[in-house]
Formats: sequence, C-alpha cells, structure tokens
Amino acid sequence: MKEFKVIEDFFKQQSVQRKDVVIGIGDDGAVTHIPEGQALVTTTDTLLSGVHFLPSTNPHAIAQKAIAVNLSDLAAMGAEPAWISLSLSLPEVDQVWLEEFSRGIREHADYYSVQLIGGDTVHGPLAVTITAQGFVPFDQALTRSQAKPGDFIYATGTLGDAGVGLQLAQLKRKIDNPEHHNFLVNRLDYPTPRLLVGTSLRRIANSCIDLSDGLVSDIQHILRASQCGAVIHVDKLPLSQAMIESVTADEAIGFALSAGDDYELLFTVSEEQKGLLETNLASANIKATCIGQLTGVAEKLELRQNDQAYEFTHLGYEHF
Ligand SMILES: [Mg+2]
Repeated sequence: MKEFKVIEDFFKQQSVQRKDVVIGIGDDGAVTHIPEGQALVTTTDTLLSGVHFLPSTNPHAIAQKAIAVNLSDLAAMGAEPAWISLSLSLPEVDQVWLEEFSRGIREHADYYSVQLIGGDTVHGPLAVTITAQGFVPFDQALTRSQAKPGDFIYATGTLGDAGVGLQLAQLKRKIDNPEHHNFLVNRLDYPTPRLLVGTSLRRIANSCIDLSDGLVSDIQHILRASQCGAVIHVDKLPLSQAMIESVTADEAIGFALSAGDDYELLFTVSEEQKGLLETNLASANIKATCIGQLTGVAEKLELRQNDQAYEFTHLGYEHF
C-alpha cells in the first residue's frame, strides 16, 4: 500500500458530516465556514511514542487520547469543537494498527461531533499530531491572564488518577482491586475533555487552563500571566475513590499536585460570580471543587494542609 493513500483509505469514511464543512478530505485544503459572531480557536498537540504514550498502548486509545488532549485545550478556552486535522508519522504501514487507530479517531469524532477535514502521513517514528479548531463567541474566550487576587480556584473531576494509571501501565505499581486498576488506567488512556464545563464558564470564570502537566506546574501559567499568587489547600484536592483506596494519603496528595495527563480544568472565579457558578455547575450536574484562592503576591504558590504550610518538593510532571 502506498503511504499517500493512508488518509484516503483509512480516514475518509466518516459519519460526521458537518454543514460548516464545504470541502473536507480529498482536496489540497479544507474549506470551512465560521458562524457569524463566533471567533475561531485553534490548538495543536503532538503525542510522541515513548514520551506521551507507552509504545505498548493500543492504537484505539492513542487515537482517542490524541483527540481528547486537543479538545481539552479547546475546553480550556471555552470553545466548542468543530474540526480536526491529523498528521501521522508511522514507522511502517501496518494495516491492523491503522484499522484500530482509525476506528478510535472515527468513534471519538462521532462522539464529539467533530469532523476530520484533512491529514497527512509521513514515514518516521510513531507520532500523532492533531490540530483542533472550534468556536467561541467574540470576546468570550477564557484565558490565563485575567485572573484576579481574591478569585476562588476550582478544579473539575478528580486529580492525580492518570499518574497512578501510568505507574500501573509501567508495572511500577500493583493494585489488587481490578475495578480500581481499570479506572486508573482508563483515566490515563481515555481522558475526558471537559467541554461542557468550558462553555458554561464563559462570562463567569476569570481564567482557565487544562491540567496536562500537573496542578502545581500548570497553575504557574495562570499566576505568571495574571501576576497573582495562590494558596492551595491540599486537604481539599478532589480524589477518586480508586485513588483513596489504592495509595497512602501522602502519595495521593503528591499525585494530585504533580502528576500529569488528568485533562481536568482548573479555573478561577471572583467572589461575585461564585454563587452563579455553583448554581450552573449543580444544574448541569458538573463536579468541580474549590481548592484555594488567588492572592496578590505575584507568582507565589503556597500549599497548606489544615491551614499549616505543606512542604512539597516534587514540582511538575516528568515525561517517562
Ligand atoms: Mg493546555
């Protein structure tokens, strides 16, 4: 099989046919329409074998994660996803691998009603680059730079699960409860982009970011861009039942603070908007936990446990 036919052969058949796509796969470029009053948000992420996923990861999961991490960036901007483009670097044209991978792309594209509008394949080490595009009403994009001292800090879902999942996948840790094991590995392989949260934060949150590298590392982007500090209460960090029952309390805090790949949203809201936020989250059945507050001390992050200083030295996510 000739490589230049990979995109046509494996990815052209799609069930999502969006009305805003005039010309999709098959021409030299895609032609699309942006709805009136909306701004276009574009983001790109590459997943490289051995860096962002284990070489043993099944291709279906790689495909879904490649889409999810990009949609998570759109969610962090308050955007609604529309289109994706795929650039695939493959060491060989492996029919079975490509069938599983393209099934993963198709299923996730269907689920999120996004259309694959173009792609390219090259011969090289296994790497998947996806560009995702979506819409946000003019002036309503969420950013990192508008956080204010006094804002309350929230995180969606539970934190640290993917970090434990990674250790399980690397056989560095063993958990006897099979349900907990599967939950944690799935949190690593199949992250959920918090799109509904992102769109419901428009006009409410002052800042937002998605957690890809770990809480302590990612919050610094907001602190730097907004020239704020933060106090985080480690006893408030949202932890899954699987996490609580599988690791020690200190380890759980460590994972929640520093492990990457959770793809939850971290956002800040002013005191005035806090009530509206909590009402909106409750009515949409969205779980988000207040974990601290921003301060006026630029770029200073303080961790507290039961209102005492909490010492934590392991900062940031290390790729394996
Ligand atoms: Mg991001």
